[in-house]
Amino acid sequence: MQMTTQPAIDTIVIGAGHAGIEAAMASARLGCSTMLITLNLDTIGQMSCNPAIGGPAKSQLVKEIDALGGVMGLCADATYIQLKTLNSSKGPAVRALRAQSDKAEYRTYCRKLIESMPNIKLRQTMVTEIITEVIPAEGIAGAVGNSSLESNSEIRQLIGVKDNLGLTYYAKSLIITTGTFLNGKLWVGEQSMGGGRPGESGSFGITGSLIELGLKTGRLKTGTPPRIDGRTIDTNKLDKHPGDSIPSYFSFLPNRPVKPQLPCYLTRTNAKTHALIEKHLHRSPMYTGLLHGPGPRYCPSIEDKVTRFPDKDSHHLFVEPEGRNTYEVYLQGFSTCLPYDVQQAMVNTLPGLENAEIIRPACAVEYDYFPAYQLHHSLMSKKAAGIFLAGQINGTSGYEEAAAQGLIAGINATRFIRQQAPLVLSRQSSYIGTLIDDLVTKEISEPYRMLTSRSEFRLLLRQDNADQRLTPIGREIGLVDDERWAVFVEKNQAIATEQARLKAVCVNPTEAINTILQTHCNEQVHEKTSLYQLLRRPPIRYDIIEHFDETSKQLPASVKTYVETEIKYEGYLKRQAQSVKKLSEAGNVKLPVNFDYGAIAQLSNEAKEKLAQLQPTTLGQAAKIPGLTPADIGILQILLTRKKQRAIQTSESSKGLQALPDQV
Ligand code: FAD
Repeated sequence: MQMTTQPAIDTIVIGAGHAGIEAAMASARLGCSTMLITLNLDTIGQMSCNPAIGGPAKSQLVKEIDALGGVMGLCADATYIQLKTLNSSKGPAVRALRAQSDKAEYRTYCRKLIESMPNIKLRQTMVTEIITEVIPAEGIAGAVGNSSLESNSEIRQLIGVKDNLGLTYYAKSLIITTGTFLNGKLWVGEQSMGGGRPGESGSFGITGSLIELGLKTGRLKTGTPPRIDGRTIDTNKLDKHPGDSIPSYFSFLPNRPVKPQLPCYLTRTNAKTHALIEKHLHRSPMYTGLLHGPGPRYCPSIEDKVTRFPDKDSHHLFVEPEGRNTYEVYLQGFSTCLPYDVQQAMVNTLPGLENAEIIRPACAVEYDYFPAYQLHHSLMSKKAAGIFLAGQINGTSGYEEAAAQGLIAGINATRFIRQQAPLVLSRQSSYIGTLIDDLVTKEISEPYRMLTSRSEFRLLLRQDNADQRLTPIGREIGLVDDERWAVFVEKNQAIATEQARLKAVCVNPTEAINTILQTHCNEQVHEKTSLYQLLRRPPIRYDIIEHFDETSKQLPASVKTYVETEIKYEGYLKRQAQSVKKLSEAGNVKLPVNFDYGAIAQLSNEAKEKLAQLQPTTLGQAAKIPGLTPADIGILQILLTRKKQRAIQTSESSKGLQALPDQV
């Protein structure tokens, strides 16, 4: 007999990984009754792969999540075993914080957060079916934020989900964040078994439900390295990598936890490792054709690295503790799907790991994903109102990418229920906006990882100014509470005061000042000079000015970093801001709904095909579709300008581009 669980919850989130946690927390904090369903309550917030948060571009994502009022930064700050700012000697756009995390503590912290929310109900079960009904599309378009729905007379809307015990859960919105679990298959050498990640079964049913709704699916793969018994590693033979002596944190909130840090270590592959890999390549399912899905280009397996870069005789491998209370160690850079016996032999070729024992083998996982061009920018499915997808299911790879999407899906599921326009962050505003824009407007054929090079505006999208860019938005949507807002307002006041002070306070060309400048950065002053003018010079930093300016010593590091960057890069920032303005003016030009691109003779065939499939809503989105040339965009631009001119001439309000001749 089928049991039914009533009444309807506002939002159901399937999956308690990094996307699911942000989605559930955002939904609950915005006041929605929320149900978080997961296969295993003990793995809430599990880090399936590396025990780390952040790094280039990913730290920007975490800071942005924090600035909007999400939780990943808080989790990472609370559970670190090491904090390090990468690229600290390089430009501000690429500086990135990375936390080595205690995996077990991270899980515990996430579960506590979830359990602290009275309006989140937790359930351990496997969702196997999504239930929808057909409804008229009228009235939904506003909440979807895309007028394309207006042209459809009907659309499917969520009713609820069913689990493998036959229970039905009703909801007004659904966020699917099932990661690598859908029809997941694990591979260790020639051995394969069902599984979403090592030690956990895969999940079934949701793929079928989404296909029935009309969504297209594909297969992707990713891999994880072996875990080593730390007691069997001779760290004396390895290069030691300690954390920063003065750590930075992810969250913009003050009073971050101060903890003792653990070192990581560095070892390297060598000719013996490479020879073993080459000898056994025929036993790797990736090379025998058993494992089909494309893997992450920017996180390749060790056999990929060795075969793709045959001239490189060594690859760096980081030896990273998985926590404070375990001897389990992660071998960063050594992901493989060669058989266990080969993995063990490969590990023992590494300096310091001659006697090391593997305690968990490396493996690859292959899983279903749903290309995200099938979603609106809100992350809601174009096929069914109220159903949102976030995280690895959308073709991304990485905890931070998943969390960023989860947060936006959580916010927008709430806004959908309340009939409010969705929150869509622009590319210019954030890496989160860039990530989602890339996902929904481009066809992803391999796991997508965020990189600083994916942003046209990376000098504007720094980790130090994420709060300036996004905290006011977080406040407006209701996720930034009074405490966070007060911190933000206070920081802004401190910035404004300091900017004025730097222009007002001057130094004279005394011997004392010039000796300090000469000693630390080979600079001199020859006339009365403001501190602002001094900071504009590339080699002069706050830590030099502090030798003769007492006030700057007292300033919070976050204020100094922001003020110094804004001063030093003023020219570049202005230019980038101008290009943002130009691009957004052109990019925001709306494209007509359901337009017959096939009828524009001058467009390339590829452009016709992609535009018809993706139906971009603006010229900016069209410009980012891979395969569309600047010439194609030029043709669309001319058509749109003609349309506008004609509308003015005939005083006709917009009748759609279809009315235009197809010759340009
Ligand atoms: P996940 O963290 O996978 O969480 C999915 C959640 O959904 C789980 O809680 C699960 O219980 C739940 N779930 C699934 N199906 C159902 C269902 N039907 N009903 C109820 N609950 C369900 N990332 C990198 O950046 N670099 C790497 O090298 C890397 N390697 C990886 C190697 C492996 C073997 C794996 C498994 C993952 C790897 N990742 C890597 C990816 C990283 O783990 C993910 O990007 C990230 O965890 C995705 O977060 P998510 O929230 O989308 O999903």
